[in-house]
Amino acid sequence: VRHLMDLKSLVRSIPDYPKPGIVFRDITTLIADPRGLRAAVDELIWPFIGEKIDHVAGIEARGFILGGAVAHELGLGFVPIRKKGKLPWKTIGKEYQLEYGVDTVEIHADAIGKGDRVLLIDDLIATGGTADAAIELIHESGGETVAAAFVVDLPFLKGAARLRDKGVSVHTLLEFE
Ligand code: 5GP
Repeated sequence: VRHLMDLKSLVRSIPDYPKPGIVFRDITTLIADPRGLRAAVDELIWPFIGEKIDHVAGIEARGFILGGAVAHELGLGFVPIRKKGKLPWKTIGKEYQLEYGVDTVEIHADAIGKGDRVLLIDDLIATGGTADAAIELIHESGGETVAAAFVVDLPFLKGAARLRDKGVSVHTLLEFE
């Protein structure tokens, strides 16, 4: 994998999933490819090498795979942000709006220290609703999300712009229309 175009070709596009009219961008094919995974992690981390960051936080579930690798490469620890009811210790939660209904993300109440600088990782940003909720959680934990990085951006849904409006630096690798 020499170019981001090669990386892009490793993403599988699945029409009408999870429902008619939606094209799901499946990154399991990218992370199953040894050079693809290495290139994705290398491209995700480069802006943050030497930056002052205390933790990498990843969003369940694909954000765990990439976030774990990113944390390891940057020499940092990993903090999971999970769907409601999955974390065993004391948690704080944040509800966020889905197209139909609401969902909740949670973080361990003691995972982030006051003033800690956090890099947030997920596989894909669409509307930015999930990442926005994660950023609010990190804020309520006393930390600050200094940057968020995603393999895939769907720019027509304006999620990256939404995060930048909150003062979060956003790094993405591949765009799909
Ligand atoms: P958002 O909250 O930005 O609208 O949606 C992003 C979240 O939903 C991410 O956690 C992401 O993993 C998941 N997601 C939404 N659409 C897709 C998609 O087409 N492909 C993948 N891999 N994840 C998606």
